[in-house]
Amino acid sequence: MTDAADAVVVGAGPNGLAAAIVLARAGRSVRLFEARDTIGGGCRTAELTEPGVLHDVCSAIHPLARSSPLFRELDLARHGLEWIEPPIQLAHPLGDGRVALLRRGIEETAASFDDAGDARTYRDWMTPLVADWDLIVRELLGPLPIGAVRHPVALGRFGLLALLPVAALARRLRSPVGRALLAGCGAHSFLPMTAPVTGGPALALLVSGHAVGWPFPRGGSQHIVDALAASLREAGGHITTGARIGDVRELPAHRAALLDVTPRQVLAMAGDRLGGLYAAQLRRYRYGPAAFKLDLVLDGPIPWRDPVIGEAGTVHIGGTYEEIAASERAVARGRVHERPFVLLAQPSRFDPSRAPAGREVVWAYCHVPNGWDGDATERILGQIERFAPGFRDRIVARHVLRPSELEAYNENYIGGDINGGMQHWAQLFTRPAVRWGPYSTPDPGIFVCSASTPPGGGVHGLCGMHAARSALRGALR
Ligand SMILES: Cc1cc2nc3c(=O)[nH]c(=O)nc-3n(C[C@H](O)[C@H](O)[C@H](O)COP(=O)(O)OP(=O)(O)OC[C@H]3O[C@@H](n4cnc5c(N)ncnc54)[C@H](O)[C@@H]3O)c2cc1C
Repeated sequence: MTDAADAVVVGAGPNGLAAAIVLARAGRSVRLFEARDTIGGGCRTAELTEPGVLHDVCSAIHPLARSSPLFRELDLARHGLEWIEPPIQLAHPLGDGRVALLRRGIEETAASFDDAGDARTYRDWMTPLVADWDLIVRELLGPLPIGAVRHPVALGRFGLLALLPVAALARRLRSPVGRALLAGCGAHSFLPMTAPVTGGPALALLVSGHAVGWPFPRGGSQHIVDALAASLREAGGHITTGARIGDVRELPAHRAALLDVTPRQVLAMAGDRLGGLYAAQLRRYRYGPAAFKLDLVLDGPIPWRDPVIGEAGTVHIGGTYEEIAASERAVARGRVHERPFVLLAQPSRFDPSRAPAGREVVWAYCHVPNGWDGDATERILGQIERFAPGFRDRIVARHVLRPSELEAYNENYIGGDINGGMQHWAQLFTRPAVRWGPYSTPDPGIFVCSASTPPGGGVHGLCGMHAARSALRGALR
């Protein structure tokens, strides 16, 4: 590691790649170091079970990637990224024969509610937010926009609803269908429905469903990071894989180091250079609940009781609002509910390149407490079977990732937390520490660019983009 560079980036997840690209395109020399033999972090595709069957190891569904202004600007289609959009973005069966359906059209979605008043409320929420989605992503999905808000009305409209807990939004709906749809999207926060600001992720996912869809890349998520890597190389950046960095002093000479890792790892890599107060904040940083991941191969499509569910890319399995609330409450209390909320994707229904003929790929996970060492496999399978009788009989291969195995796979997943830290209100705009610029550290040459910075988890590259801009205003000016 002798070649000096203006900037070095540690970690080739979507945020590390995004940071490196922004810096390279700004004319800085950039070297990126990735611990594992392949790039991608939480955005990789692999043959986990049978030859020719492509599983998304971590991320699968990408409304945030498609919304990302950086990814759009890079025009990743030039580097082979092709989005597939299923006919229905999301299906959510309630268990009593009713199914909530998130479609691209607001009207069509509202039509799946069985209550005219709720349909009106939903339209009133969605119509202005969908029109403003680009502005919201540009100005709110990043550091707190203090003093720099260019579109206060649009952002205020989103903020007023987003600051509420899902429970408060759900109280405005009467229909079990609308309430369940809201709960399933809110549960992506990994927090109980009563937690402040859980309205934010719920609305962001619903709005993005209408604005850009919930697509996935043909061939798997790996194609997103492969396209990012091509973009970085095109801009002159250099990637080294199989290069784990234990301490920033191992890095070649540089003016700025951007770390695509979480606070615990930042402390390990550079703790003695960061000052006592900042280091103390990083030590207090809170990690959130974990994922328990299940990848399956079936010998045919999932036999959904209601065939319309087969037209959806993503399925939320958890029944009613009350059931999902109970599932997430249990996780917050350190337990796993007997009927956990399950997120499921069925990509090979729409992308034949994922599996040979006669095989179907299923991606699923549920939430469990951080570091949980139990086995949720049977609970996940039981939940799917509830809505698809005969499902178990179609399973021909399976692959399980428990929280400890997720962390072994990607050291950023501390205790199995896939979002780089809890996404609760106190760690939303101020992650990883309370500072004017959340990406900078007390060491002027060290920046954090991972999902542990605003706007947090997900494949969007915005943490990396904002961190790179922070470095360009500072050490790399
Ligand atoms: C089961 C699961 C499902 C998910 N589903 C979705 C989804 O559907 N949609 C979505 O948008 N997001 C999803 N996510 C979340 C998403 O994967 C992450 O939020 C995202 O990858 C974070 O990107 P990042 O660049 O911050 O970190 P990461 O992707 O975690 O990348 C960090 C990289 O840094 C490397 N690294 C760490 N330490 C070192 C070191 N010391 N030296 C060198 N390299 C190092 C790691 O190996 C890794 O490659 C999911 C995650 C999981 C696990």
